[in-house]
Amino acid sequence: MVKKIVPIFILALLTALCLPGGEAMPADGGAEIPAGEKYVALTFDDGPRRGTTERLLDGLKERGAKATFFLIGQQIEDNAALVARMAEEGHQIGNHTWSHQRLDGILPDEAAQEVARTEAALEALLGGGEYWLRPPYGQVAEGVELGVPMVKWCVDPRDWESRDAEKVTRAILDCVEPNSIILLHDIYSTSVDAALRVVDRLQEEGYWFVTVEELLWLNGVTPEAGRMYRTGKG
Ligand SMILES: [Zn+2]
Repeated sequence: MVKKIVPIFILALLTALCLPGGEAMPADGGAEIPAGEKYVALTFDDGPRRGTTERLLDGLKERGAKATFFLIGQQIEDNAALVARMAEEGHQIGNHTWSHQRLDGILPDEAAQEVARTEAALEALLGGGEYWLRPPYGQVAEGVELGVPMVKWCVDPRDWESRDAEKVTRAILDCVEPNSIILLHDIYSTSVDAALRVVDRLQEEGYWFVTVEELLWLNGVTPEAGRMYRTGKG
């Protein structure tokens, strides 16, 4: 019963924060985090992947948790239904380049192409919008302007290395705190297991799972193109 209340509560909370003149809105117009609330953003890179991503979406839906998915462009067309489902279910969708290129190791034009091609695939499927970027390995070359906000992380359980759900769960729970952006990869079944265990555990502790965009907004941060965000504090 409790789990089913979660999405409704978040919606109600966000709506309350949106209302001009609402109690939670400070005089300067920025969003304010209600005292005692704890928000966290799960982010998933390198998907979508049939099977694992599907199971993750089922689990997140059941728990009323939102997440952010940074997709590899060349995997979008073959998984169009999964990507459409992510958007329908309120998750944030972002760009993880067309072919997982390290953007600080290629020419600026090539980097721009890697991003633009993925953006075009997302726009063709989901319509126009701003698709934030997570550069592979979290790196971009100095002075390269890619036109959208960029997102790093602050909790990295190195799920790709251990492929052990228990270790990954523990690594996250050991260092998570309010406003953490957690890095995972939905291409591993063990990471999906860990993510859902983390949601169960942290929801019990009073955490709310929101998208990165929502996390920034809840912290009163206005996202800027070309800037890299690590946590809700920017
Ligand atoms: Zn990646």
